[in-house]
Amino acid sequence: MLPVSEIFYSFQGEGEFIGTPSVFLRLGGCNLKCIGFGIKNSYEGNTILGCDSIYAANGHFSKEWKSYDSSQILIDKIQNFSSNKFDIVITGGEPSLHFKNPVLLKTIEYFLQKGHRISIESNGSIDFVFNDILKELHFTLSIKLSNSGESYSKRIKTKVIQNIIDNAKSVVFKFVLNAQMCENGTALKEIEELLKTLKLKSNKIYLMPQGISRKELDENIKKIYPICLQKGFCLSDRLHIRIWGNKRGV
Ligand code: SF4
Repeated sequence: MLPVSEIFYSFQGEGEFIGTPSVFLRLGGCNLKCIGFGIKNSYEGNTILGCDSIYAANGHFSKEWKSYDSSQILIDKIQNFSSNKFDIVITGGEPSLHFKNPVLLKTIEYFLQKGHRISIESNGSIDFVFNDILKELHFTLSIKLSNSGESYSKRIKTKVIQNIIDNAKSVVFKFVLNAQMCENGTALKEIEELLKTLKLKSNKIYLMPQGISRKELDENIKKIYPICLQKGFCLSDRLHIRIWGNKRGV
């Protein structure tokens, strides 16, 4: 069974392939909680704190997830979104938790053979073995920094990150930052300390503003772009937030 929080067709709103029409497959479950991002959600009368994908990350919401036991049903669902060329973005939660799931692997294999580009959005903290299918995937590693509220030992796994750099089709990094950590220097310090421990292969580094409203994005991006210019990092926006706000399924 593959737990799926949602599947939808939209633009890739962030990072390297921003603006590309994409089907998003958001899988359920995450090994982190990231309460530092401070997004509040209520479920059955309880307030739960976490990230803006909390409904996919936190097991409290698992009753809302759909379980797929057939790759064919999932393939049909994805294919029906568009007859045009589209990317597939596998996100979560933490999608690498499901890399041994045959429903997911068969679905990935089918769309790779059809020539679709498939990206994975991962927090880079789950160890897994690359098989021939996984080696064809493009990874965006959104390694969590101290603003996530997670402990260093849970969020930073250097060997896991290096394994992905060494084996994936391509890897970019995407760090989510707020204005405060840019102003006090912790953002740059944490990023540089991490990058120093890795053997990079000209991987692009994206900095992206934290935020679920245009106002928050604007406040944070103003403090981020000078760091990008200073260090030669790329700047990412959150296009979907600018177009639709903090809405699910787009
Ligand atoms: S790792 Fe990502 S999906 Fe998981 S809780 Fe943190 S921000 Fe949310």
